Amino acid sequence: MTSKPVLAAGQPLLELRGICKQFGGIKALDGVDLSIPAGSIYGLIGPNGAGKTTLFNVITGLYPANAGKRRFAGEDMPLGMKASVIVERGIARTFQNIRLFDFMTAWENVMVARHVRTRTGVWGALLRTPSARREEAAIRDRAFELMSYVGLPPAAMNRHAHELSYGDQRRLEIARALATDPLLLALDEPAAGMNPTETEGLRELLERLRRDGITVLLIEHDVKLVMGLCDRVAVLDFGRLLAEGEPEAVRRDPAVIAAYLGGAA
Ligand code: ATP
Repeated sequence: MTSKPVLAAGQPLLELRGICKQFGGIKALDGVDLSIPAGSIYGLIGPNGAGKTTLFNVITGLYPANAGKRRFAGEDMPLGMKASVIVERGIARTFQNIRLFDFMTAWENVMVARHVRTRTGVWGALLRTPSARREEAAIRDRAFELMSYVGLPPAAMNRHAHELSYGDQRRLEIARALATDPLLLALDEPAAGMNPTETEGLRELLERLRRDGITVLLIEHDVKLVMGLCDRVAVLDFGRLLAEGEPEAVRRDPAVIAAYLGGAA
């Protein structure tokens, strides 16, 4: 599978400056600066309630930030930009709690997601014009390619999403996100609830994505997975950046050990 990298590896793909997000009296994000290099796997860790999911929600446009600046692929991305436009610009995500269409098949789940990148309008679809039929066939082919890429077994592809194993549901979510052709794929705790075999499969998939030029932003509590896989790691605590850097340096940082890693260090 190929992506269309618009930046050379190592160039900043997503840049955040002074991002703040407040819920009533709670400062969930308090001036966060982050620069995610193109072609990397970037880990975001921190204790419960540190602001990790809020940062994902701000990056992907689910919540508007109260202050700050965001640039993506070398262009400004205003804080008020709608989530649907952000997907079109190339940021896709998965959620901490799996979000799939339970009573659609795996195929249908991926095909629906692909419609972000299609041209057929309502009339073309209703009249089944030749170009609509050609596009539909291309969407099918792409859905199959993506499900195979994420390692979904062929037997799972025709089953309803809710019938799939937990690991396969997680894989399907990633296939749906990939169907939008992202430059940046943001994964919120993809290994949560996975058994060791499923986690190993996820690790291999993330390495494959990096090889294929897709930048990955990863929230994950599995410290071993994060430290073994990520090129850089940021640690959030109380809505602020506690540390940022290569995994080994972050692992040894006394402030990170005190606030988060403890025995896991
Ligand atoms: P976890 O690891 O437990 O998922 P997290 O690091 O992702 O935690 P967030 O979910 O971003 O943390 O929460 C950061 C803070 O913002 C918390 O104090 C949380 O209660 C608060 N918060 C998050 N979303 C909302 C919301 N929609 N309304 C009010 N407060 C919120």
